[in-house]
Amino acid sequence: VTVDPVIPVRILFVEDETNLRNSLSFILEREGFEVMCAATGEEALAAISHPRPDLILLDINLPGIDGFEVCNRLRRQPATAAIPIMLLSARTAVEDLVAGLERYADDYVTKPFQPRVLVARINALLRRRAGESTENVELRFRELVIHPNAREALVGGKRVVLTKSEFDLLLLLARSPQRAFTRDEIIDVLRGESIAVTDRVVDFQVAGLRRKLGSAASLIETVRGIGYRFSD
Ligand code: CA
Repeated sequence: VTVDPVIPVRILFVEDETNLRNSLSFILEREGFEVMCAATGEEALAAISHPRPDLILLDINLPGIDGFEVCNRLRRQPATAAIPIMLLSARTAVEDLVAGLERYADDYVTKPFQPRVLVARINALLRRRAGESTENVELRFRELVIHPNAREALVGGKRVVLTKSEFDLLLLLARSPQRAFTRDEIIDVLRGESIAVTDRVVDFQVAGLRRKLGSAASLIETVRGIGYRFSD
């Protein structure tokens, strides 16, 4: 029996205090993370690409360039711009932290902290990122391509102009191919529009969507007595 090796999440931990660096990297490794350490910002920047970390745990107060400057440089490089960053800071520097968070970082933890709280925050940040990336996965069915984040649909390479509700409807159906959605389920998704959503409105939206999809219209099938489904 072969078991797929689980690829550990790699963390780059940047901290100049040796005791904290050693104790926390030990804890993180025990939690199953692969940990690379750096004692200065310069070391962190030098270590960043080989191999690239999945998350950076970054102390703000470092000798030489500080954590904010490290963030700044990482965010400017396309290869490192998207790596999630969690800042570590002394509690007294909370105002700095807020400024840094707004500009560069994804989350922060103030010192002193409970290691298990930090681990929970790291896991939450990684989950959040994983969710964002699956939500943005491009969907392709025959000649139809959907880019969720850009809220864009293309048929045969040509952009199709959809209303907000038509796009929401398309995404709902396309994310669960073969699943039949009842008109009530679709109404729930379309709610929030200013119009009162009824069964007739759902049918009207689907008709409009099909018309715009042209040659890809047959991807949306009517399920008699129930509603609609996406069928590739
Ligand atoms: Ca420090």
